[in-house]
Amino acid sequence: MRLPPVADRLAGNRFLLDEDEPHIVVDQALAAATGSADRIIAICPAQVYSKAADGTVQVEYAACLECGTCFAVADPGVLTWHYPRGGFGVQYREG
Ligand code: SF4
Repeated sequence: MRLPPVADRLAGNRFLLDEDEPHIVVDQALAAATGSADRIIAICPAQVYSKAADGTVQVEYAACLECGTCFAVADPGVLTWHYPRGGFGVQYREG
């Protein structure tokens, strides 16, 4: 069986964004000082992170797959990360 490309599979997910309580917060100074910024940008499978022209890390919360990989590779204190509150977050449509 041939699977569709990853981007197509991700497009099948639904995300309910919790605008009152973001589930990821980046300590910008620590991210830049430790090199974690580049690491989390490179490793996120959903391309949630990007770098702005001023070097700060931008977060596209609504694309997060809640895999926790960024939290595992970031230096301590760089990310505040938790699962979204009940009713919010990703809903997988492709298993
Ligand atoms: S939890 Fe996974 S999908 Fe979400 S931002 Fe981190 S690495 Fe990306």
